[in-house]
Amino acid sequence: MQKHYLLTPGPTPLPPQVQEALGRPIIHHRTAEYRTLFKRVQQGLQAVVATSQPVVVFTSSGTGAMEGAVCNLLSPGDRALVILGGKFAERWRDVCAAYGAQVIPIPVAYGEAVDPEQVRQALKQHPDAKAVFSTLCETSTGVVNDLQTIASIVRATNAVLVVDAISGLLADPCQTEAWGIDALVSGSQKGLMLPPGLAFISLSPKAWALAEQAKNPRYYFDLRAYKKSLADDDTPYTSSVSLVVALDEALKLILAEGVEAFLARSALLANATRAAIHAMGLQLFAKRPSNGVTAVSAPDGVDTKKLVKQIQDRYQVTLAGGQGEMAGKVFRIAHMGYIGAFDLLVALACVELSLVELGASLSPGQGLKAFQSMIGRVPAQAQPASRASAPVGAGAR
Ligand SMILES: *Cc1c(COP(=O)(O)O)cnc(C)c1O
Repeated sequence: MQKHYLLTPGPTPLPPQVQEALGRPIIHHRTAEYRTLFKRVQQGLQAVVATSQPVVVFTSSGTGAMEGAVCNLLSPGDRALVILGGKFAERWRDVCAAYGAQVIPIPVAYGEAVDPEQVRQALKQHPDAKAVFSTLCETSTGVVNDLQTIASIVRATNAVLVVDAISGLLADPCQTEAWGIDALVSGSQKGLMLPPGLAFISLSPKAWALAEQAKNPRYYFDLRAYKKSLADDDTPYTSSVSLVVALDEALKLILAEGVEAFLARSALLANATRAAIHAMGLQLFAKRPSNGVTAVSAPDGVDTKKLVKQIQDRYQVTLAGGQGEMAGKVFRIAHMGYIGAFDLLVALACVELSLVELGASLSPGQGLKAFQSMIGRVPAQAQPASRASAPVGAGAR
């Protein structure tokens, strides 16, 4: 029997309170009891997304909300600027193309963040652009984009800014309304500490105006139906009741800690993880690293597919490898949601041991030491809030 540790950028481990909520008897979604809960969930989601606008909940993985953004905001033939730089940015490009948009790519090398000036230039060149699509955290490269600056640029034009914050929400700072992000998309299985299965989207008034007129076909993802139902704390179709009940528990945990403190913890763990990686003599893949996931370049001669598999097989610790062209060259460690400092120490110990076995030259313990010295420096108020003790195997901190 071996304890399992999950440190991937989705799905992420579930707190015991969320796990328990998933096992409760189901209730009916057209009841006063459910509406009260759904209203509370709506308020919690608004706090997490940092908006006063409705946050629509779909039963789908995160990509469903990406599709929802495209089909509600664009009409066939509309020009869409898509900021590239990773596998998820490329998904925006592909969804836009599937709905008949004229995609104008803004090229960005893997591992780099977009230079906001590129966005300004692209908008100047294409003043008729309807929308700019970006990722907050590009999970495949571990890069976080400077959405605050990008939003200040897009805001001054007629275009809307659409952001995939599926992994960035609750890991990287994102002031959706204050910065002027027009459509924010997220999912349940990353910072929100839930199983996969829910997706979220919130629109600004500027984006709602587009959604009223867009000519793309849409039915399940038609945001107008959700907005209408939300006025009665309701959903147009059957809600994923058990996941929403679990979301209610997750939001209670997040709001009890406070969104700021939650983000500060991710930042601390990200910093400590980066320090560990440097102390091992390895390089970060991301030039502008996210607080949700650390992508590490493979040391010379090491195939990260082998590294990740070995750590999985031998130690029951799940890390992520590289996607697409980055397969074999990058491995990724998540530090979002319920992943805690001591989960990361376990993961880093496995990385050190396995790298040595795969022939890399490093002396085990250097990374752990650097990680611990960063964690040890934390002022008391920024430390993780104490929680009910987790059962063995539930990803205890
Ligand atoms: C995980 C992730 C997605 C994919 O969402 P699914 O839930 O698999 O549909 C999209 N974008 C980013 C940035 C992600 O991290």
